Amino acid sequence: MNILHASSEVFPYSKTGGLADATAALAKAQAAAGHTVTLITPLYRGIAAAFPGLEPLGQAELPAKVWRLEPEPNLTVLFIDEPEWFDRDGLYGHGDDAERFIFFSRCVARLAKRAEIVHTHDWQTALAMPLLGQARVGKVFTLHNAAYQGRFPADKFALTGLPSDCFDWLQLEFHGDLNLLKGGIVFSDLATTVSPRYAEELLTPEYGCGLEGVFQAKGKALTGVLNGVDYAEWNTTDNPHLAAAYSADAPSGKAANKRELQRELGLPPLDDTPLLGNISRFAEQKGIDLLLGALEERLGGGAAFQFAGLGSGDAGLEEAMRALAVRFPEQVAVTIGYDNGLAHRIEAGIDFFVMPSRFEPCGLNQLYSLRYGTVPVVRATGGLEDSIIDLGQGDGTANGIKFGDCSVGALGQALGQALSLYAEPARLAKVRDNGMRADFSWSQTTAEYGRLYAAIS
Ligand code: ADP
Repeated sequence: MNILHASSEVFPYSKTGGLADATAALAKAQAAAGHTVTLITPLYRGIAAAFPGLEPLGQAELPAKVWRLEPEPNLTVLFIDEPEWFDRDGLYGHGDDAERFIFFSRCVARLAKRAEIVHTHDWQTALAMPLLGQARVGKVFTLHNAAYQGRFPADKFALTGLPSDCFDWLQLEFHGDLNLLKGGIVFSDLATTVSPRYAEELLTPEYGCGLEGVFQAKGKALTGVLNGVDYAEWNTTDNPHLAAAYSADAPSGKAANKRELQRELGLPPLDDTPLLGNISRFAEQKGIDLLLGALEERLGGGAAFQFAGLGSGDAGLEEAMRALAVRFPEQVAVTIGYDNGLAHRIEAGIDFFVMPSRFEPCGLNQLYSLRYGTVPVVRATGGLEDSIIDLGQGDGTANGIKFGDCSVGALGQALGQALSLYAEPARLAKVRDNGMRADFSWSQTTAEYGRLYAAIS
């Protein structure tokens, strides 16, 4: 098939979160499966310098220059080069994101006409769905997070170039505003999200973010497909970021990664003390406030463990994280910022990855943790619910620890379970082994998308 994806972030060219990993890996896996895949993304500042192989694309009758790169056989990445919109630091939040991503989506729609399947991701590229209108292509839209909708004042609708009758409550209008995500859902032939559980949750007021009626109206044309992991990127056997290689068959190297991480972060090198960690955007969604509360409660109570945190976002949460590290310098190390190499080293060095998300469409860190022999401690929601098997299962298949309530108390209890598990090395080794042997590779996800594409093309 000739498949065209569009995403506002694609690893390794740009990334703020899981969207970048998911779109890059899906496109790569489909190309490896023999499809002809094109992936369109903005040329942000710094990409051209970091990837000198970019070549100009001749034919485009677009209002922007387009560059191409072929990182894998069957996979072409097209970069939309419009300095006014994309040559700046950071990806989002400049105050003119409506202009920037409506422009980007219009470029996508123009480049899309020759594809059999046009598959766009999140609000930044959602407008391509209505723009393609009656074009003879299969239109697939994936939402990676319903909390980010691309909602803008009504006057921005004029930028879309769509007929004015599209601005009504059954299409792109939402409580008087323009809602790009809603347009992607309504106008796609098939809408997907990144886990089966999240697809169900979206139908409820608790998780639907006001669009639950739109999701309900989509019926069977809204479905959940769990993201996969790019194990070429996220592995423990051949990984330049790690101090020592290890695997399910030879797990002992994990201890060296723990020691090295403790050294790097300035924590006492204690082999037998459980090391917990978290890597995250500091946003309400991720439950960082719950994490802070539970860590403070446990550490204040004298519990013997260490914690390694990496993240950035909400300034209040950044400050609270820093303060925790100041209060417990022997036990807590916090890095505020974005650091891909450190993310790998934390995943490899820690014993437990704590993920108390209020909602989690898929979540990738818990999947990375499994492969890295790190036990995920997660709230039972969305993709966390779909991928983690709780200790309480009792049939020897557990790969993590799950808790239900969105509260400091419930998380604190789950942390208690983690510390108890750590005190039982044989049980811990079994849970780790289950995680490391689990297979969340993209081949299953790609096959599922193949079936879905076939049904609409
Ligand atoms: P989301 O997309 O909601 O942020 P996911 O768990 O799906 O959450 O994906 C997060 C991705 O971003 C993971 O690959 C994670 O390692 C990475 N990440 C998040 N914050 C940081 C950071 N501060 N430094 C490095 N990587 C980060």
